[in-house]
Amino acid sequence: MTSTFEPRMLIDGALVEAEGGATYDNVNPATEEVIGPVADAGVNDMQRAIRAARRAFDETDWATDRAFRKACLVQLREALEKHKEELRPQIVAEVGAPIALTYAIQQDTCIEDMQWDIDMIDRYEWERELGVHEFFGLRSNRLVVREPIGVAGLITPWNFPFMLNLSKLTPALAAGCTVVLKPAPDTPYSATWIGRLVAQETDIPPGVVNVVTSADPAAVGEELTGSPLVDMISFTGSTAVGKRIAERGAATLKRVFLELGGKSANIVLDDADFSAVLPGTGMVCMHSGQGCAITTRLLLPRSRYDEGVEIVRQAFEQFPYGDPTDFANMAGPLVNAKQRERVLGYIEKGKAEGARCLVGGGPATQFERGYFVQPTLFVDVDPDSTIAQEEIFGPVLAVIPYEDDDDAVRIANNSRYGLSGSVSSGSLDRALAVARRIRTGTVSVNGGQWYGPDSPFGGYKESGLGREHGVQGFEEYLETKTIGLPAS
Ligand code: NAD
Repeated sequence: MTSTFEPRMLIDGALVEAEGGATYDNVNPATEEVIGPVADAGVNDMQRAIRAARRAFDETDWATDRAFRKACLVQLREALEKHKEELRPQIVAEVGAPIALTYAIQQDTCIEDMQWDIDMIDRYEWERELGVHEFFGLRSNRLVVREPIGVAGLITPWNFPFMLNLSKLTPALAAGCTVVLKPAPDTPYSATWIGRLVAQETDIPPGVVNVVTSADPAAVGEELTGSPLVDMISFTGSTAVGKRIAERGAATLKRVFLELGGKSANIVLDDADFSAVLPGTGMVCMHSGQGCAITTRLLLPRSRYDEGVEIVRQAFEQFPYGDPTDFANMAGPLVNAKQRERVLGYIEKGKAEGARCLVGGGPATQFERGYFVQPTLFVDVDPDSTIAQEEIFGPVLAVIPYEDDDDAVRIANNSRYGLSGSVSSGSLDRALAVARRIRTGTVSVNGGQWYGPDSPFGGYKESGLGREHGVQGFEEYLETKTIGLPAS
């Protein structure tokens, strides 16, 4: 291990450049400086990776030798743990993520959480007998066998790149699949670093793990999603691209597992302790709001609206952001100039549609460089307006007043998304009753955290198909075979 980042891809067991040596620049969004080059794959490189993964699945015993798989995954977890201090600055540099977050969900906890999926290899019931059944006068026993689905294409976004790479790689490999990982163009090193450790510090056979980086996701990504050699796509990203992937997958009827966008509601009921609950709403701006499950709509009761808005205003004014290498900051910049322009466009739209901008509302001009946007608080937001309906993916909160619990539930569910949410009340029963009426894949009640390696995570409606993590997440990578045997 010499250089501090890995510019090469992993294809068929070798760390390689793209065909013709093409590269593109990986840029630090806080400084706008080039961190280094990375391989810029073309369609031919992707085809080579797909063929390698197919061959490794069909011709090695990776899919069937569970003890070997487990030993290899333990090697990978240990290598990641050993080298995590080399990876940490890379994540901060390429994502613009606050360093404090890398000690939690942006890096360290995901390495620890790998063990849960590794343990599934021994814990999972791979086969079970159904017992005797009579059919056409024949008595038969039935054996239900779970097998890896085959070659899995893993496509990940830039907001929590390392965590999402591992959230897909670990269960896919533990299940016995072989994989082609295609990270987002903005965050290649969080994937190539894993490829390097796979190649140099594990016995994972050539072709089992392939990592393909490209500046042009459309051409290379569509090669992966359309290939008849690929059995499933596991995707995290925007709803628009998710729909395109489902469309591409339809041609070969491959399984498509989608974790998509969100516009989650934080419902604060009128009997909640506002002084305990509302100061935390500034955390909507954590990582500059670049999280799919962040509660970006705050629903406050009309009867205590002004009191609530005042607490939120203070939380937004005091929110610490800036240089992501500074431990005091909870947010850095947006990931690139395009995202910053997109977020600023939504802020202008919010103003134009009549919402009141109480804090922020523009680029953070105190920084000479970097794609920073001010934490921005909109109040009196119409629940049907653009900033209440569309995912902004920036440090922007829309506060919406409601009349009673039924009205709060109606507004929360007035969304094409259904990813997450939260409910707070002085009464746990009342909060839970409201939570049960929210049509989302996860909900926090009175501050309870739903996240865990064993917690299924995913969305209702246009927030996705399927679940990541937990037994359900593991089973996304499995097929089911029923074998009939003569009854003895
Ligand atoms: P994106 O959809 O633009 O890109 C995601 C990935 O898809 C990237 O690797 C990209 O290169 C690739 N891609 C783009 N076009 C493709 C195509 N035609 N074929 C194949 N691959 C293609 O998303 P993003 O902007 O990188 O990430 C932000 C989005 O991700 C937000 O909408 C956010 O809500 C969502 N997200 C969801 C979750 C979740 O678990 N639900 C988690 C994180 C982020």
